[in-house]
Amino acid sequence: MSRRLNLLHCAGMMVALALISGAVSPAPARAASKLKIVTSTTDLAEFAAEVGGDRVEVESIARGYQDPHYVEAKPSFVLKLHRADLLIAVGLQLEIGWLPRLITQCGNPAVQVGAKGYLDASQFAEILEIPAGVVTRAMGDVHPFGNPHYWLDPENGRRITRGIAKKLAEMRPEDAAYFEERFQGFSQRLDEAQKAWDAEMKPFRGRKVVTYHRSWPNFTKRFGLEVVGEIEPRPGIPPGPRHTVEIIQMMKRDNVKVILVEPYFDLKTPNAIARETGAQVVVLLPSVGGEKEATDYFKLFDYDIALLTRAFQATQ
Ligand SMILES: [Zn+2]
Repeated sequence: MSRRLNLLHCAGMMVALALISGAVSPAPARAASKLKIVTSTTDLAEFAAEVGGDRVEVESIARGYQDPHYVEAKPSFVLKLHRADLLIAVGLQLEIGWLPRLITQCGNPAVQVGAKGYLDASQFAEILEIPAGVVTRAMGDVHPFGNPHYWLDPENGRRITRGIAKKLAEMRPEDAAYFEERFQGFSQRLDEAQKAWDAEMKPFRGRKVVTYHRSWPNFTKRFGLEVVGEIEPRPGIPPGPRHTVEIIQMMKRDNVKVILVEPYFDLKTPNAIARETGAQVVVLLPSVGGEKEATDYFKLFDYDIALLTRAFQATQ
């Protein structure tokens, strides 16, 4: 009997100690529970961090130098998704090859598609190249619902960030004013940056480019460039000799002197085309973290626009 009492006493002490040390206490205050956000891409992580500030922890599954269509996700992300409050995805099937598996495996009801902790960022953005008629992935086309590289227009960056701020405010109403204030700050900095980017790109409006993958419709629309062809015959389909010859002929005919290539594609075909046409190959970054200089959304555009304007100047 006395032994049992001792044990009970002992257990009570342990609980008391644990409560004092905070080890098993129920989250007493907001500070103890930052919202855990996982994003599929680095750009979405940037937007979430911009509005979330110190009230969130954000991590991207894909790295900025990876092709977001084909990410080999580390198993550690299953655990991170298991603990996440919110998953933000690009959608439009960009991540169809790798994200659904992680969502299924993580066993977290909160972040399942359609649940409160799943946010599809495409709903906030202007989406280009939405196919008319029947939607299929025929011939391997990886853009069946419209172009999923929509974050490359700063206006879409603003729209997505506003959408994320609203979502965070729903999840944490007590921090709504904080998220709104941070969104306004981001939006103002974006206004300033856009003025500079527009001014730098203005002399080159109307310039024609060829791109490797169809990553740039929102970017080129925004800055008034014209994409006259892609090295991939269809998004996700590697270049073949016949299509490459067509691209070379078309570039010669239209005097196209700049080829944009995402950092994760082989430069062999772009370089061969450049030799035939006297064009410059520019490795343009589609995502934050594509190079070490592109540390945030602003620096991503700074980096790309500096490279592009240099190439346009050199090929007047
Ligand atoms: Zn794509």
